[in-house]
Amino acid sequence: MVEREQTKKDIKELSRNDKYSILLPTYNEIENLPIIVWLIVKYMDESELDYEIIVIDDGSPDGTLDMAKQLQNVYGENRIVLRPREKKLGLGTAYMHGIKHATGNFIIIMDADLSHHPKFIPKMIEQQRYLDLDIISGTRYAQGGGVYGWDFKRKLISRGANFLTQLLLRPGASDLTGSFRQITWTLINDVLEKLTQSCVSKGYVFQMEMIVRARQFKYTIGEVPITFVDRVYGESKLGGSEIFQFVKGLLYLFATT
Ligand code: UDP
Ligand code: MG
Repeated sequence: MVEREQTKKDIKELSRNDKYSILLPTYNEIENLPIIVWLIVKYMDESELDYEIIVIDDGSPDGTLDMAKQLQNVYGENRIVLRPREKKLGLGTAYMHGIKHATGNFIIIMDADLSHHPKFIPKMIEQQRYLDLDIISGTRYAQGGGVYGWDFKRKLISRGANFLTQLLLRPGASDLTGSFRQITWTLINDVLEKLTQSCVSKGYVFQMEMIVRARQFKYTIGEVPITFVDRVYGESKLGGSEIFQFVKGLLYLFATT
């Protein structure tokens, strides 16, 4: 416990001049949004870190944006930033849209459906601060990580995508399809241009390309084991077309990197 308190103090000291921009892409997440925001606020405030939460809602018909506005009234406009788009334009471009509006020197990307627990954010920040790495990737597929609540088919898709990517691109990270990460601005600046140019990263392939490009340009990658829990509220947006786009993106990267 004493050790934990000391670590917290160290991190606070090391992160004194830092600001974390946490990106939450949402599509029909009205039940999840208040809980995820409450948890983020709790863990970031406990660690006394400076942050903003950028909600990128893609015109959700369930009223997610109205919920986000209410949360903005509760937590303040500095903490909750709304950067909505008119319609569903893909997860990858949602991240890029959020990045363009971010004012922090670190970007954290995560799902808004409670599959990614905010308790792992301070762990990522600790590792980044201690080892001075460019990207920290939350991993389900290393010692200490795991996936809970997925059926066999979903596990197979995730494992399969991960295996194929490992086989073709060997990027040296254990979880390539996950989207719980912390990234530094230097890396974003360098990689973003490439991501914007390449037409493959509009959807779920973004997460993978980020890691692959980071490795390509010799950036340093760290990993924090995370437990991924399947969503309780709402539905997954992963469909056949996302899987097709992913495979297309993977082959493109295989051919070009
Ligand atoms: N999402 C989004 N736009 C999309 C697809 C997904 O904003 O076109 C968000 C979604 O609301 C969630 C996160 O991205 O916060 C992950 O999506 P989802 O849970 O559907 O994917 P899965 O976890 O099933 O892979
Ligand atoms: Mg999910």
